[in-house]
Amino acid sequence: MVSKVYNFGAGPAMLPESVMKKIQQEWLDFQGMGVSIIEISHRAKEFVAVLDEAKALFRELTGLPDNYRILFAHGGARMQFSALPLNFSGRVVSKKCLYVESGNFASLAAKEAQFFCAVETIASSAASGFDRIPDVKPEQIDPAAAYLHITSNNTLYGTRWQQFPESGNVPLIADMTSELLSRQIDYNQFGVVYAGLQKNLGPSGMAMVIVREDLLGYTDEKTPTLLNYTRCDKDNSLTNTTNTFAIYVIKLVLEWLKEQGGIAAIEKRNEEKAARLYQVIDGSSFYHGVALPEHRSTMNVSFKTANEELDAKFLKEADAIGLYALKGHRNVGGIRASIYNPMPLAGVEKLAEFMEMFAQKNG
Ligand SMILES: *Cc1c(COP(=O)(O)O)cnc(C)c1O
Repeated sequence: MVSKVYNFGAGPAMLPESVMKKIQQEWLDFQGMGVSIIEISHRAKEFVAVLDEAKALFRELTGLPDNYRILFAHGGARMQFSALPLNFSGRVVSKKCLYVESGNFASLAAKEAQFFCAVETIASSAASGFDRIPDVKPEQIDPAAAYLHITSNNTLYGTRWQQFPESGNVPLIADMTSELLSRQIDYNQFGVVYAGLQKNLGPSGMAMVIVREDLLGYTDEKTPTLLNYTRCDKDNSLTNTTNTFAIYVIKLVLEWLKEQGGIAAIEKRNEEKAARLYQVIDGSSFYHGVALPEHRSTMNVSFKTANEELDAKFLKEADAIGLYALKGHRNVGGIRASIYNPMPLAGVEKLAEFMEMFAQKNG
């Protein structure tokens, strides 16, 4: 038995311990109501207050401009892959939508969109095994397109956009599932930002969608009601019975983030955490990073040893000392440390020391 496990899983991922304790403490009796948060109506004033508070906290922490709306949408990130073209491709008659292929989720987003719009993939890093963010030149962006879709952080490969593409008047849409709230972002660069909750925000199965106001109102009339962002916005995300528990957890996570000093503070800590692991990778010939250094993520650190046998040995020994869920995604192999906002520095330090020790013993 290990006394303390550090959870490096890519998602559903670890949550702050204080948030988990608060949930436990309030579980049977929410705010003196004598019932649990999951036992009250989604239209009860106590729940609506939680939802509104979550939105207000998100605005406060991110400095989200007033002309952006915050939606809580069903079905995680991948349901939004369908919702995006249904809600936004109708802005142009051609229904042309541009996609950048920077990893598996980026490919899946384009694949799903093909059912509803005219997809054009304008750049891809598939040929180099998604070890980088592909270059996008302004002249590749058709100014008549409905939107340009990117995946800001590629969870499997551990790459991220250091600088977002200039898309002019074409709204930029970003899947930020594996990095929302991990770094400061100027939301004015984006038309839409969305994220499944289970990496930096809370439980799985829902997504947050941030939409610039003027992009609402173009939803295709055949869109299923629960994928209709225009309707979702009008209904304060309460068109049907939403996942009240998930929204309650988001609120607690946002409160925790505020206590940590906000996004600037967490970004600094995230950079330190990632730097510690990359330092070990770069400092030895034993480990090989999956991503090119100038494209590296601070959230997902993917690397390999010389061969699969050593990878397996690494994972087994790491697990035995409480370094949990470090196995790389099946498409990539190797090892992946997901170090989202809640991962403490101590967890990263323990992993870094284990990596150094393992390299010494087996190199
Ligand atoms: C995890 C992930 C997804 C998938 O999210 P689901 O909620 O399972 O649909 C999509 N995009 C990115 C970038 C992810 O990291």
